[in-house]
Formats: sequence, C-alpha cells, structure tokens
Amino acid sequence: MRVAAFLDALRRLPVTTPERLTGNRPFVVLSPHPDDDALGTGGLIAAACGAGQRVVVVTLTDGSGSHPRSILFPRDKLVALRKAESESAADRLGLPIDHLRFLGLPDAEAPSAGPAFERAMEAILAVVREVDAASIFVTWGRDPHCDHEAADRMARALRRRDPTLQLWSYPIWGWHLDGAAEVDEPAPVGWRVDISPWLEAKRDAVAAHASQMTALVPDDPQGFRFTAETIAPFRGPFEYFFKVPA
Ligand SMILES: [Zn+2]
Repeated sequence: MRVAAFLDALRRLPVTTPERLTGNRPFVVLSPHPDDDALGTGGLIAAACGAGQRVVVVTLTDGSGSHPRSILFPRDKLVALRKAESESAADRLGLPIDHLRFLGLPDAEAPSAGPAFERAMEAILAVVREVDAASIFVTWGRDPHCDHEAADRMARALRRRDPTLQLWSYPIWGWHLDGAAEVDEPAPVGWRVDISPWLEAKRDAVAAHASQMTALVPDDPQGFRFTAETIAPFRGPFEYFFKVPA
C-alpha cells in the first residue's frame, strides 16, 4: 500500500489506554538511539512507571553519529552527553535510571546479521527474561535508518526464540517517508494510546535530549537537529503502536 494510506490508517487506529495495551505486564522498549524511546513511547513509559509496571529501555547504539565533526564534543564526550540526556529523560518519565541498559554499539553500525547481531540479541533476551517481559516495543522496520531496521530484525529474532512475546512497532522516521512511495507491509493493526495525562512529562523528556533539539553542540554544520516539522509527530496526545507482522 502507499505510505500515505499506511500513515493515515495509523492516525486512525482505535484508541486505547496504556494499561489495556500492555495488560499491566512488564515490557521492554528497544531504542536504536538514545532518543527514540522518549519520542515514540515516552507517554507509555510514564504511564506504566506511574502504575508500578516494570519497564526497561535497551538503547542499542551510542548516538555518536549525530555530530561527527564537532571539535567541542569529540566522540567520547558526545557519547557521555547522550547517555546523560537519556538518564535525564528517564528521570522525567519516572523511569529509574537502572532500568536503562546501553549496549553501546557504534551509531549507524547496529548489526543486522552475524555474530554481533547474535550477541546483541542474547543481551536483549537476558533483559526480557530478567523482567519477565510480555511485550517488546521496537522502532518500525520501515523507518529509513539502518539502526532502526536492525532493531526490528532483533525484535523479530527474539520472537522466534520466544513466540509468546508480543511485538509492537512504533514509527519514528517512517512518519516522514514520501507519501507516494509504496510500503511492502499490510495495513497496520494496533492502537493509538491516549497519553494526554503524561504529555507534559513526555515533552520534558524529549527536551532533555538537548543535543538533538537545540544548538547545544554548536560547531558541526552538518550535525543533526530536529526541526519543527520533524518533531511534530511526537508532540501530540497520542502514541501509535501496531503489531509486527509475522
Ligand atoms: Zn533513531
């Protein structure tokens, strides 16, 4: 189907509550970069933490690719900054900092196959078992970014190991795909979650990623920064989750 029709169907998914979506069971969020979790699932995380549910966020990569030419923030300093921003964001969502796990893979190099892929998958599986997670929330496999595609592959591999796991996609860069393009996927089946009560906490959490939202890292002209347009899908009162097809 066309991307425009797919995204339109997403926007019109039936509405549910966080507790109905997760069944009040523990869950794991797979975040390819240090900000994807807050952007796509911040409201859900805040709601679940407020209800006493166990939530763990696994961040795959170190986020070092956002400002590769900065002199003021060389790689190690940028990695430390992005981790600190994740911790600050978690705090604003009510997520204990020790519920964040960082795999520390190099940005743009999350593996999609091979021994490194297997190692990452085993690390995530250990977290899933540790918290007895019933579901995994993962970036959409059609998000046009290699790390997001790799995250989707890892989640699918986890489900092959444990078929009881429920997988939910959350779109990030997929919101900005060309509407006229084709997406090789059935119409989405899932839910819109009303996050109004947690919207302020989510916005605070997103703002905590200041390196991605502001000119905090000022000296890389090609550095990444969200614009009003690119952040728009993440500012509203709904989050969107659809089943990862088998
Ligand atoms: Zn990302």
